[in-house]
Parts: sequence; structure tokens; C-alpha cells
Amino acid sequence: ILRLQGIEKFFGEEHVLKNISLDVEEGELITFIGPSGSGKTTLLRVIGGFHEQTEGAVILDGETIDQLPPEKRTTGMVFQNYALFPHMSVYDNVAYGLKLKKDVPAEERDSLIKDALKQVQLDGYEARKPSELSGGQQQRVAIARCLVLKPKVLLLDEPLSNLDANLRLIMRDEIRRLKEELNLTIVFVTHDQEEALSISDRVLVLKDGEVQQLDAPPAVYQHPENEFVAEFVGHAN
Ligand code: ATP
Repeated sequence: ILRLQGIEKFFGEEHVLKNISLDVEEGELITFIGPSGSGKTTLLRVIGGFHEQTEGAVILDGETIDQLPPEKRTTGMVFQNYALFPHMSVYDNVAYGLKLKKDVPAEERDSLIKDALKQVQLDGYEARKPSELSGGQQQRVAIARCLVLKPKVLLLDEPLSNLDANLRLIMRDEIRRLKEELNLTIVFVTHDQEEALSISDRVLVLKDGEVQQLDAPPAVYQHPENEFVAEFVGHAN
């Protein structure tokens, strides 16, 4: 459903992404891992349209989407800090995304918003402000705000890094559940190798903007393609 073809990205002189090609299947959860500065977030932002690649193409559902700004893309991005509006209720936060979609009839909006909140198990919380929610609940609102737009691909940038260890485990299950229930395609960025290997169908290991390995977690663990991957995933070969 998502294809990256020969993506190159420069920030000035700095070559941040090097010839990245990738096919993501519908319903797949793929995670980008790699050391700080390896290009994970930049790659996610290229897919979401927040950075323009220097070379290469992003193809979503057969369509090249390079020219489309983020709000016109059928990808939804959840940021590390959730970026919720503090003065708005949960309901209005989720409704906000829909406002940009002129083609959704007014009478359908309410049920779409309620469905999205139900999907993240937040029905009953419509009137609360983000400050009256736990970190995990805020994260769910941020996800609902994307889901309401029915994205073809959900992009999650370190979504669990602000949560405590216990909540991280709960939200991991939650993301897996959403993926299964809605057949969602998810691209996930994390610092946490263990998290990546436990949650993903496949993992893309990056180093200095280059793909080191793209494989299912057991293969990355058991058959790291080079020393860097072996060390990075904690497998002493
Ligand atoms: P981290 O795990 O620390 O978030 P990352 O793997 O996500 O790192 P990126 O944030 O993608 O890495 O950054 C890759 C490189 O691109 C870094 O060297 C960074 O300094 C550089 N970079 C990122 N964003 C910009 C920008 N907007 N302008 C210039 N350079 C940037």
C-alpha cells in the first residue's frame, strides 16, 4: 500500500537519507529503528509530507503523493508530544482534523468522532480537557484524531516515549489491537529496540541514513546482516 522508491534527503550538505526503498503491505506494522540521528524521524516525515525528499518517490496506493501537502495526504501522523489543543475538549480535539475535510457531510461528523473515540476506548471522555487525562489517554486522543480521518497509513513518531514503563506495555498491546481490528497499516518510529521487536511485523534498521536490514523481528535477532545490526539489537554474534 505504501512504496518508497530511492528516497534521498539532504539537509544542506548533510546527506540524511540514502537511497531508501521500501514496500509496506496493507495491514502491516513496520518500525524504523536506529541510533539517534540515523534518519528515522526524517524518513517518517518524508512519508507524511512534512519534509520534501531531495530525490525519489513516495507512492501511496499506487499514487505518487510527493506533491501533496500533509493535510491532503491519506496518511495520519501522531507526534511524540501528541500536539493536542489544551483548551479544547477531547471531542473538539478529535473533531478538529475533520474540519479540514470539506467532503464529510455535517450529519456524519458526530458519529465518525464517536466511533474514533470508541476505537481507542475513550467513549465517555468527550467533555474532558487533555490536562484531565493520563498520558496514555492523551495518546489515545492523538490516535483518535488521526483515525477519524480514516488514514490509509498511520505514522507514529515515538508515540510511547513519554509514558511510564507499565503504560508503554499497555499501549503497545493497544496499538497491536487497533492494527488487527481495523487492518491498519502502521509505520512506527522508536528508540527502543525491544519495543520495536515486540510490536512489529517487520523492522527497518537504519544507520547514517542507510538501510542495514529489513526483516521480521526473529530474523533480525537471529540473522543480523552485519555487525552493526547484531550489536544494535543486542545480539552478540
Ligand atoms: P532521534 O532518534 O534522535 O530522533 P533520528 O534517527 O530520528 O534521531 P533524524 O531526526 O531523522 O534522526 O535526524 C537525522 C539527521 O538529520 C540528524 O543528523 C539531524 O541533525 C538532521 N536533521 C533532522 N531534521 C533536520 C532539519 N529540519 N534541518 C536540518 N537537519 C536536520
